[in-house]
Amino acid sequence: MSRPILPGATVGVLGSGQLGRMFALAARRMGYRVHTFSPGDDTPMGQVADREAVGDYADLDAVAEFASRVDVVTFEFENVPFEAARTASEHVPVRPRGEVLHTAQHRQREKDFLHGAGFPTAPFEHVPDRATLDAALERLGTPAVLKTAGFGYDGKGQAVIHAPEQAEEAWQSIGAGEAVLEGFVEFEREISVVAARGCDGEFAHYGVTENRHRDHILDVSIPDPDIDPKITANAVEIARGVLEALDVVGVLCVEFFLTHDGELVVNELAPRPHNSGHFSFDACVTSQFEQQLRAVCALPLGDTRRLRPSAMVNLLGDLWENGMPDWRAALADPSLKLHLYGKADARPGRKMGHMTAFGDDGEDAARRVIAAREALTRRP
Ligand code: AMP
Repeated sequence: MSRPILPGATVGVLGSGQLGRMFALAARRMGYRVHTFSPGDDTPMGQVADREAVGDYADLDAVAEFASRVDVVTFEFENVPFEAARTASEHVPVRPRGEVLHTAQHRQREKDFLHGAGFPTAPFEHVPDRATLDAALERLGTPAVLKTAGFGYDGKGQAVIHAPEQAEEAWQSIGAGEAVLEGFVEFEREISVVAARGCDGEFAHYGVTENRHRDHILDVSIPDPDIDPKITANAVEIARGVLEALDVVGVLCVEFFLTHDGELVVNELAPRPHNSGHFSFDACVTSQFEQQLRAVCALPLGDTRRLRPSAMVNLLGDLWENGMPDWRAALADPSLKLHLYGKADARPGRKMGHMTAFGDDGEDAARRVIAAREALTRRP
């Protein structure tokens, strides 16, 4: 049995965005201290942490100093360089281990892992340089999606290619660097499974969530959609298999496309709590953030059962376009839960917060939470 890291101990987090902020709130509630390390100051997590260390992830001396002052290190952002995780692991346990980060932060490595371990993916081709793109397109056909190999998120660094003549334009638009070309998946909907694995292999999951995107950014998440229970069971088994194959200790989200034939295709992995699991903060016995804490501290995992049917919407910076959103109007629904991440600069497309609402079922909750978001910008 792994030695538990008990309340009173200090958890270090690499990264300091909203995922870290919600993790810190969960950890502090249970009596832990939390330190964050990132290049920014006055960050979403830094505002609620015991210590906000500011440094570059490539400054391994600074990472070592950070790690030497905590009892365990986890991360909330997967684009931390692998070397930072390795350096931290010379001082304290890093959970999930750096190799998980290394796999999930690079699309080619991630695809190779998934394919090699027998998990279903879209057909893909490695495109290390421009010269290989045309042959890859010939093999896969169009439409296809070209994605940067590293450091992409929310649809950034990707382009759909409808015809071979568009190859050059697509290559330039993603920054002309190492890429992966994927076959275009005609999906019926997008779903995800957030799951956790403890130090001793214990597994817990949050079931299936349906995710509706707008401009490639998650817009609405609805847990427990009305889909064939066999598909749900299959998605959960794939998630379990991924966490086991990668030997994850912590939380990991598997994003899927569900095709019209009921087939599941893994789109990508996020080795940390995920936007599609935010509903759990208010709607589950144990949130995905508390679950991450329990997993990385070698504690028993918590119950993921729902308290009530719920749905979540993201609040993007666009809502600030004509001034401060009308929070009072949204909160007129007395059961609505408002989360704001403490970001000062409301740029379009930037995730500023989210809201969760409850209802008789997921669709009812979705209607309520979308109505509450519309009320934010309705001017008299
Ligand atoms: P990603 O950054 O890989 O999660 O992609 C962002 C969004 O682009 C996904 O949520 C899908 O809506 C869309 N997308 C990505 N890859 C594909 C694909 N191979 N086929 C169809 N749509 C895709």
